[in-house]
Amino acid sequence: MNRRYRKTIIAGNWKMNKTATETRQFAEELKTMLPKTKWCDVVVCVPSVNISAAVKAFKDMRVAIGAENVYYEKSGAFTGEVSADMLKDLGVKYVIVGHSERRQYFGETDSIVNKKVLAVLEAGMSPIICVGESLEQRETGVTTEWIALQVKSALAGVPAEKMRKCVIAYEPIWAIGTGRTATAEQAAEVCSSIRATIRSLYGARVARSVTIQYGGSMKPDNAAELLAQGDVDGGLIGGAALKPDQFVAIINAANQE
Ligand code: PEP
Repeated sequence: MNRRYRKTIIAGNWKMNKTATETRQFAEELKTMLPKTKWCDVVVCVPSVNISAAVKAFKDMRVAIGAENVYYEKSGAFTGEVSADMLKDLGVKYVIVGHSERRQYFGETDSIVNKKVLAVLEAGMSPIICVGESLEQRETGVTTEWIALQVKSALAGVPAEKMRKCVIAYEPIWAIGTGRTATAEQAAEVCSSIRATIRSLYGARVARSVTIQYGGSMKPDNAAELLAQGDVDGGLIGGAALKPDQFVAIINAANQE
């Protein structure tokens, strides 16, 4: 973390979990244990049908609501899709874009991810852009090049002045939902290479202002070590974000002066 230049952000990704009723219950429980989050921002990304319930339920807490997906067109004949303006109108502040599950199960390409990033920014929200390598890519030694390509593709056409709103989440695919976490050194190495890619595109001043999260089985017992790395500015958390006590323990690890 380096709060001199950028925000530390802890974001939960609920995936396809919790009903609206369970969303309200989670918020009630969280309220009893959430500390004053002076040193980090907290985001909860929920299924789109629960956004209204979440915005209402988390209203009195310093918790921003995020969406897990968006469609890039403004409006029209796209049955079942949700636009950036629709999310913005509900009070959404962050949108996860390019999560590996969407790339893997729903055919999201780098070009689609880029269109979504541009749509989210145009609507005035912050994209949380997920990038990450497979185990095979790590083992064949192409991680850095692969991640650089994903970052460059996702940011195509994003002007420097909008980069402050962008969050990049480094999520090694082999660590998501597997209980297997990247070591702090692995996370640090890739997050720093992501910052180097941003630096090559936008210069040092912009690069140091961008929040880069780590995601992949972040838990209360490994969060502090991951967050102690200079280029790891927070976490995108799946499983552990579904349990208020675990989520708060990770927030506490980030909420240090
Ligand atoms: C995620 O879904 O973005 C994620 C990091 O999941 P988990 O923490 O469960 O590995």
